[in-house]
Amino acid sequence: MRLDKFLSNMGYGSRKEVKVLLKSKAVEVNGEVVRDPKVHVNETADLVTVSGEKVEYTEFIYLLMNKPQGVISATEDKYEGTVIDLLEEAERNFEPFPVGRLDKDTEGFLLLTNDGKLAHELLSPKKHVDKRYFAVIDGRVTAKDGAAFEQGVMLDDGYVTKPAQLKILKSGEKSEIELTITEGKFHQVKRMFQSVGKEVTYLKRLSMGPLELDPKLKLGEYRHLAEEEIELLK
Ligand code: URA
Repeated sequence: MRLDKFLSNMGYGSRKEVKVLLKSKAVEVNGEVVRDPKVHVNETADLVTVSGEKVEYTEFIYLLMNKPQGVISATEDKYEGTVIDLLEEAERNFEPFPVGRLDKDTEGFLLLTNDGKLAHELLSPKKHVDKRYFAVIDGRVTAKDGAAFEQGVMLDDGYVTKPAQLKILKSGEKSEIELTITEGKFHQVKRMFQSVGKEVTYLKRLSMGPLELDPKLKLGEYRHLAEEEIELLK
């Protein structure tokens, strides 16, 4: 990998900023000052230091984003903005992708990683990873809906959902609920409510498996997961 990309990936700023750093002679590769951003380094075999400090190489990135409405959970799209567009260059360089999808108008908890194995495990239907959502519903949500979701409801394509837990926070013309599901079918929460004759007007994911949305993250913001959080996911 090019030295400038390596340093940028490891958090030393954009390629432009790294260039300035290299010019200042702060960077050494195997004990020699290197100023050329194009020099190739072997991430695991070469010793790269910045101002005498060893640069530790990490292959994987794990981000928790509070997804805003209006962007799609994909790595690229011809017409729409994506969650990847919200990342800084240093994170984009790791080529992360969203773990599962949230609709364009859904907000909240979204994991982004380049760890394909972990993503696969979290999304595997066999793993039954809980996903908890908060939703505003047009219509009066009742205990009867909760019982139906517990049993499993038939979606518009004939699929019968696995047991899901409904918590009614407010029941009225506009209801507020939390729903925990273990699957990730296309538009699942919206279609489950459709099956009981109601419409989701606002949807936000609150958690996935053991991790909750960080209340400190504003919409569109993200942070790196701590080591302990990554371990919890494995
Ligand atoms: N269910 C939905 O209907 N939409 C989402 O974005 C996530 C779950």
